[in-house]
Amino acid sequence: MAEINGAALIAKCLKQQGVKELFGVVGIPVTGIANAAQKEGIRYIGTRHEQAAGFAAQAVSYLRGHVGVALTVSGPGMTNAITALGNAWANCWPMLLLGGSTDLAFAHRGGFQVAPQMEAARPFCKWVAQPARVEDIPHLIEMGVRTAWYGRPGPVYIDLPADIIEAMVDEASLTYPGPVSPPIRMAAPPELVAEAVQTLRSARKPLLIVGKGAAWSDAATEVRRIVDSTNIPVLPTPMGKGVVPDDHPSIVSAARSYALKNADLIVLAGARLNWILHFGMPPRFNPETRVIQIDLAQEEIGNNLPATVGLTGDLKAILAQMVAQLEETPWKCDDRGAWKAGLAAEVAKKKTELKPALVSDEVPMGYFRPLQEIQKVLPRDAIIVSEGASTMDISRSVLENYQPRNRLDAGSWGTMGGATGFALASAVVHPERRVIALMGDASFGFSGMEVEVAARHRLPITWIVFTNGGIVSGVANLPKDGPLPVNVFQPGARYEKIMEAFGGKGFYCETPDQLARALRTAFDSGETALINVAIAPTAKKAPQTYSHWSSR
Ligand code: ADP
Repeated sequence: MAEINGAALIAKCLKQQGVKELFGVVGIPVTGIANAAQKEGIRYIGTRHEQAAGFAAQAVSYLRGHVGVALTVSGPGMTNAITALGNAWANCWPMLLLGGSTDLAFAHRGGFQVAPQMEAARPFCKWVAQPARVEDIPHLIEMGVRTAWYGRPGPVYIDLPADIIEAMVDEASLTYPGPVSPPIRMAAPPELVAEAVQTLRSARKPLLIVGKGAAWSDAATEVRRIVDSTNIPVLPTPMGKGVVPDDHPSIVSAARSYALKNADLIVLAGARLNWILHFGMPPRFNPETRVIQIDLAQEEIGNNLPATVGLTGDLKAILAQMVAQLEETPWKCDDRGAWKAGLAAEVAKKKTELKPALVSDEVPMGYFRPLQEIQKVLPRDAIIVSEGASTMDISRSVLENYQPRNRLDAGSWGTMGGATGFALASAVVHPERRVIALMGDASFGFSGMEVEVAARHRLPITWIVFTNGGIVSGVANLPKDGPLPVNVFQPGARYEKIMEAFGGKGFYCETPDQLARALRTAFDSGETALINVAIAPTAKKAPQTYSHWSSR
């Protein structure tokens, strides 16, 4: 049989594992891997910075329900992708990072771009590995995909020294482990499920919190069946949005604080009681609340709040068990009781409070009216990538999601700089969907050059940049004397021209009408476009009672 080199072998193994696309930045020693991947029929998307490749790979994982892959060169190329590894770790998303590294022969002689890459990746990874011989590659890639995907998902790093990538091996001497099967959906012990259902029946003020674990578990059908059969109020986390459509009558997002503070039983479905949910602590949570917690990771059960009933396993499987029991002996949350009435009144109050900002003709615009213009034209299956503190936070309450895994944002780590990679991945995985990348100008600054990738690959992403000229706020003009405020950028920046530089369409808008026209033209064009929305440098969020990063 013929000989094969390490690069071709890596590509062949990725193909065997069902990898459909590879994001990366080529150079020494990994260009051969990208070329070989293309020969295998894997789509190669070259990004401008390794961080975007890493973010795109994990978004591919989330959107496909598989393991996405990123490729970097050695040394600084690999370390550029570490934030992406950290983000995948924090969000419990699988991904495989393949990092080229200096020749083993020169690793201790000052080799080109030598770096402790394994050590750098290790804190954020479920597993890191380096093949000792080219023959080890099939096993390591299979184990990498398996480890990233099975159990609680997370990132894996495989280090690929240049001399292993270039080494030749007789194909006849190799064994291939074959593709990793999708994870088995573990059910919970029936007696614990019965206890959970019994506990639910005893609640007067139940609340179902749906997290992105439910989206990852593909549990939307089961969640809907529980919700529709019990009428339980539903509060999605930011990326849990869409598992139950935002316009479903059981959704109480507008009454979030009221719901958390008053619920006497929380069904926590694929979400963690971390900062996003205020650690499950007072004053945001009712100190008497009981919890039915469902999570793939048993070590998560009881974290911050003891679980009244903890169900470990796959959410889709466990919810199906609960549905079966509830169908045998139905139970409904009292639709005419004080709990539902209180929630409905709070939802109505919040919506009324929001209304003037949503229809305001004020120029310069604030956040709400332009978001409302976007909401009006988004199809129900649009993928909304959103990033930037205020732009993202406010967009959550204005832009609706109707399908699971249709919102990708700064997530569990509050990461800035991931959205462009997420948008690229969304357009690659779902070419049939409208993809918007809604970003604040601060967020866009982290990785804005990646719009070139979208133009080059003809990915019809609509980037929408809300420009207030700073972090949190900006200034209309820079002061002539004295130090510049620490949070401001160049006022009046024309980010749309960056898009035009690469042949995409650029739009600049100062009024709601201009934005409405720009959205229509951008969507109709089928091309990559960037809409720069100038908002007031001092535009504000609605006042909040509590800061969102603490329990206080
Ligand atoms: P959110 O940010 O939406 O609150 P988190 O990332 O904090 O969500 O939590 C998601 C949780 O879902 C994690 O604890 C993870 O272990 C869990 N999870 C992931 N996949 C599954 C699954 N298939 N079944 C059950 N739980 C899951």
